[in-house]
Order: sequence, then C-alpha cells, then structure tokens
Amino acid sequence: MKEIAVVSGKGGTGKTTVTAALAQLAGADAVVADCDVDAANLHLLLRPEVLSEERFYGSSLPMFDARQCTLCGLCESACAWDALHIRNGQYEVDTAACEGCGVCAHVCPGGFITMTPRLTGHWYTSRSRFDQPMVQARLGTGQENSGKLVTRVRTEAVACADRFNAGWVLIDGPPGLGCPAIAAISGTTAVLLVTEATRAGVHDLARMITLVEHFSIPAYCVINKADCSQQARDDIRSHCSEHAIPVLAEFPFSSVFPASLHEGRTLLEMQDDGITAQMEHIWNAITEQEIFA
Ligand code: SF4
Ligand code: SF4
Repeated sequence: MKEIAVVSGKGGTGKTTVTAALAQLAGADAVVADCDVDAANLHLLLRPEVLSEERFYGSSLPMFDARQCTLCGLCESACAWDALHIRNGQYEVDTAACEGCGVCAHVCPGGFITMTPRLTGHWYTSRSRFDQPMVQARLGTGQENSGKLVTRVRTEAVACADRFNAGWVLIDGPPGLGCPAIAAISGTTAVLLVTEATRAGVHDLARMITLVEHFSIPAYCVINKADCSQQARDDIRSHCSEHAIPVLAEFPFSSVFPASLHEGRTLLEMQDDGITAQMEHIWNAITEQEIFA
C-alpha cells in the first residue's frame, strides 16, 4: 500500500479538485483521506455516505477542585495565555484562550487542578460515490491542534486500506506548511505539489519543496493557471528542474475548476477532453514510477 499526498503551499490552487479526479481514476483500489480538517471540502465532490462518526479529543482543559483551592493565584500568574480568572469566588477557565499546556496543573502546590480531555472535533468513516472507503474530519470551531486530527485521519485511512486490501491511500492535504501539512506528508510514498503560475504560487512552491526535501519525499508537480503569468510559470519550471521534480501537467486558467466545485462534479465529469487527458496522464505517470513498483 502506498500513500500519496496532494498538497499546495497556498489555498486556491485547485488541489482538492485534482485530488477528487485522482480518486475517481483510482476507484475502489484507493482509500481517500481528507486531511484538510480545518476547511474540508473534498466531500463536496466525492459526496460520501457517512458510515460512522467518532469524537476526537485533541487537547485538554484544566478542571479545578474549587472546594480545596486556596485562591493563592499561582496558577493564574503562571498562565502565559491569561486564561484563568476568578469569577464568583472561584477560578474559571477562558476556554477560548486556554492552550491546554497544563502549566497551571503543574504549579498548583496542592494538586487541585486536573487536566481533562477536550473535545476538539469529529472524524468520520464514509464510502465515496466512487465505491471507495473515505476518512474525513471536522475540527471544532476555533479549536487548535489540527495536526493531531490529521494524523488520526491518516492512521484510520491506512487501517482501512489494510482492511480492504487497497493499493493506495490518497491524501488531500491542508494548504500551507504548518503542523497539519507536516502531519499530512511525513512518511508518505510521494507528494503531488499543486501550484499556480502566480507570484504567491512560486513563493509557496519553493517553501513546499524545502519541506518535502527535508523529509526526503519524492515529489511531482502540477501547474494550474499556467497561462496567468509566463514569468511565474518559467520560475516554477526552473525550481522544479533544479530540484529534479517532474512537472506532470500544466492546466491553463479555466472556469472548469471552480465550476467543478460549484456543481459537485469531478474534473473528469466536466467533459473537457483536454483536462481529462491531463488528469489521466498525471495518474498514469505517478502509478508507473519505479518507487511505486
Ligand atoms: S492549561 Fe495552560 S493555557 Fe490553559 S489555563 Fe492552564 S496554564 Fe493557562
Ligand atoms: S495554584 Fe492551586 S491553590 Fe492556587 S489558585 Fe491555583 S488552583 Fe488554587
């Protein structure tokens, strides 16, 4: 079983649209993992039937033993996030400010604070309309630690692939380079970098290349909106060439990409022969690589 992560240094490059088309091409031989847990939207295209829902406790919150607390104030002073305040004669936690670091519990001389699991999101096992298992998640509003939830989604997707004897786990990664992106790509077989021919696209692709090289993961590139800027397109090609990253396809600026999301149809279902041929080329090029043998 091989894991391939589709990622982008920035949002809006068409990453999810590309992932959905690859999922359709892979069919029942793939498990799909939507690791963009902060703003999941792969389900708009794959329209999965949800089979199970699980709670995810990704952080912790302090609980006070108000009967024993002496209101000495040590915990409040130690909290770097100003999350503890006395109200109605006892300490209360500002849950929006609390980072769950546990320092307050550590400094309390009487041990009157207990860190308790905090519900930060949910994850789901589903079946996509292309008859493949899918794992997705939703981070609670304002919740942190999405990297942990990404890891949970990946772990479940790999378990699903083992269970169903699937050859692939296809990961729709989060945009950016932070903890969630690292959680989505570390240890994968390869990544597909989806970028766009804009200044921001060039900049973020360069940072993404640094990240995948740090983890020594083979990478491939797709350039979207390739005709938006000749200079940006050339810069992307030049970066990829310097780092031995094959550019598998270039898509011109096209209303088909946003229309795909808007209409809930994959790129292959948009009946654009040029785009369909390019998507098939991407999938064939990736699956025929030696590292996937
Ligand atoms: S867990 Fe950390 S952030 Fe939350 S109240 Fe305690 S010290 Fe402050
Ligand atoms: S450090 Fe412990 S005893 Fe002091 S105010 Fe905080 S909870 Fe109460």
